[in-house]
Amino acid sequence: MCAAATFKNQSLYVHIPFCQGICAYCDFTRVRYHAGLADQYLTQLAGELEQRVPRQAMETVYIGGGTPTALSLGQLRRLLDMLKPYTEGALEVTIEANPEAIKPELIDILLTGGVNRISLGLQSCDDQILKQIGRRHTFDQARQAIRLLQQAGLTNISCDLIYSLPGQTREQWTATLQGVLSLNIPHCSLYSLTIEEHSEFGRTGQQPLDEDTEASMYFEAVQVLKQAGYQHYEISNFAFAGYASRHNLHYWRYDDFYGVGLGASGKLGAFRYDNTRNFQDYFQGRWIAEKIELTREDQMFEMVMMNLRTAAGLSLIEFERIFQTPVTSVYPEAIQNGLCQGWLHLDKEHLAATDSGMALLNTVLEEFLD
Ligand code: SF4
Repeated sequence: MCAAATFKNQSLYVHIPFCQGICAYCDFTRVRYHAGLADQYLTQLAGELEQRVPRQAMETVYIGGGTPTALSLGQLRRLLDMLKPYTEGALEVTIEANPEAIKPELIDILLTGGVNRISLGLQSCDDQILKQIGRRHTFDQARQAIRLLQQAGLTNISCDLIYSLPGQTREQWTATLQGVLSLNIPHCSLYSLTIEEHSEFGRTGQQPLDEDTEASMYFEAVQVLKQAGYQHYEISNFAFAGYASRHNLHYWRYDDFYGVGLGASGKLGAFRYDNTRNFQDYFQGRWIAEKIELTREDQMFEMVMMNLRTAAGLSLIEFERIFQTPVTSVYPEAIQNGLCQGWLHLDKEHLAATDSGMALLNTVLEEFLD
């Protein structure tokens, strides 16, 4: 019988489910901010952390949402104090923020609380589109927010961009990409719109663009960002050298991670868990809604799947360390076929997707499931 696989765990995700307003495309776990509810939530979150996460310094902490900066300044200070045992000494502490929330007082609290990376919900550089999708900032506000952050020394900034929006033209997308380049930020993440049933777009029957236009927008972004010096280090993520998201790299390397808060997920050894999305359950301490035990086969496949999303690919040594068997012995045919098709590249240390393999990753992975 094989020993249980052991994965590294140095990461904590913390979910803050409040937003100042609700965007038209969004189906995340979030509600409109309410001060009393947020106070109650932070109390529960402290309890969950206490009981479920060992008090130890993490390598990375990611505070996402929702919009963590929808909290009042006092609540944000309380949150960051609560996270001190995990953030002290961490290499990367990221918080998601919306441009309209960035003010000098907020930046002070973030810096004092150990935050050293900001993930900004820019989404578009086109004011008309920002309005259409229910965002509450203009491009000029985003530009000013970034300037304030940079002046305060918080220069490790990532921007989220969304594309394939209903009615979005190629020209608007090109202009957004050019707008992003003008911001001088070291990281950028792309999201293709999916219409979620319970979002405003879903309820009003909006449609994303056709697949060909969506693909051409993606490839344009890859080309523009690479030409500007960004490394395309994961299918949808781009960074200047040294600015790849350490936290997300833990996900893609298939390391373990803790997730706390409403709707958060985590992975601990052979178990993946999803927290409840229901406030009542969460407030009564019924944090976990579902816990799934992964088979060894599930874990091997998931490790390949996640790692092939990255340009670096799967570490052969790491796979063998964890599963005590080489990946080439587990999936000989899928790998051989991927190499023949030009979808995969194999050297002494890594198995990685080529550019064409990355573009067809779902097809490439189907071979690993056969
Ligand atoms: S997209 Fe972000 S800011 Fe907008 S409603 Fe969803 S979580 Fe909130």
